[in-house]
Amino acid sequence: MKDIKMPENVKMILDKLSSEGHEAVIIGGCVRDSIMGIEPHDWDIATSAQPEEIMECFKRYNLMKAGLKHGTVTVIIDHEPYEITTYRIDGEYSDHRRPDSVDFTCDLAEDIMRRDFTINAIAYDGENIIDLHDGIGDLQKGIIRCVGNANARFREDPLRILRAIRFAARFGFEIEELTKKAMFDNCDMLRLIATERRQSEFTKTLCSEHVSVIKDYAKILKYGLPCIDSIKDFDKAVRAVEMCQDISEKLAILIDELSLSEYNKAVKVILTEMRYPNKVIASVQNIFAAKKMVITNSDACIKNMLYKFSLEDVKHVLRYKHAKINASDNIRKETLAKVESMIKRAEELAESDECYNLKGLAINGNDLKRLGVKDLNIKWMLDGLLKLVTTNQVENSRDVLIEVAKISML
Ligand code: ATP
Ligand code: MG
Repeated sequence: MKDIKMPENVKMILDKLSSEGHEAVIIGGCVRDSIMGIEPHDWDIATSAQPEEIMECFKRYNLMKAGLKHGTVTVIIDHEPYEITTYRIDGEYSDHRRPDSVDFTCDLAEDIMRRDFTINAIAYDGENIIDLHDGIGDLQKGIIRCVGNANARFREDPLRILRAIRFAARFGFEIEELTKKAMFDNCDMLRLIATERRQSEFTKTLCSEHVSVIKDYAKILKYGLPCIDSIKDFDKAVRAVEMCQDISEKLAILIDELSLSEYNKAVKVILTEMRYPNKVIASVQNIFAAKKMVITNSDACIKNMLYKFSLEDVKHVLRYKHAKINASDNIRKETLAKVESMIKRAEELAESDECYNLKGLAINGNDLKRLGVKDLNIKWMLDGLLKLVTTNQVENSRDVLIEVAKISML
């Protein structure tokens, strides 16, 4: 177990609150990560002080009050925001999305009770660790376990089901048996959760180090990616997902394995329905479009890809292929090396002043017009000239291209 080292400003906030007679702790992800020796990305502070008392303590600072209803005051110190939240008891979750009400409390134990998993329910007051649900034991054993009755906790807020998978994938932890059973028993309730929130959890899971845990949860993850439970060779698909970094590459790999009827339409429908950003949707579609091209590592071929797609998308499709070859049972080293060299070459060509698109061609549509080429014929002629240039059949010089155009227009 590692020591918890708080940033100076966080320590100052805890000290200030306790010097005013309040209890104050850091809690949740920052304590969990510190104990695991991971640098936390934010520090959640919880306190027995009521929201007005927090504001009073920090009245000399800039305060943001957007979260006041939920007991959160954000204090800006050295241009950095620090969230301080009054200990809370969440009321009934009659819509399974958010509590009907939040009550403030002075009792840390009650605030800890509302937290999802034991590993997320550890607090630290600057001197002592407060671990009422054996979160440290579970961290050491590598276990995700609900605080309290798993069934009830998932029924209150079904998003926790996807959060459990996300944390398991992030840390490579096992999900404790009763928690796991309750996840499967209640997963249909994920329907009640906003699509964006489900998608966001699924995306984070897919981008986690131990993504292979998804194999055990396909039935649940269909609420993150429809039809994911139709994948036949999940082992292979996951091996390929592990081999690439980018979300659009990972999604393309999984979608390629789904049993879909109208393929191209379904890709767009699934991603749009799951509210993926337009850029991700376009990249996945481009990966599928580029996948249909017959390719090799010649300059002419790479230039042709760069003509049709952005460098970023060319890299996406090549990395996608690289990952799939890597995940296949019979790894062909030469094929992998070829794809790697294509990625490098695509980058070089895109940065060089070699011609691979109409912008780089030494003549343009106006030149052809002046020669007397009809509007209707300009596009195919430019494309034809480009093809000759990118395949090294003709030099990319104005005079030479005009000469070729003159012959072709007769
Ligand atoms: P991350 O590193 O991904 O931010 P985190 O544990 O900090 O992980 P957050 O979503 O930032 O996760 O939430 C902060 C804390 O709030 C959690 O550690 C947990 O104690 C509590 N929490 C968050 N979401 C829920 C939820 N849906 N139900 C119960 N407690 C939750
Ligand atoms: Mg957090």
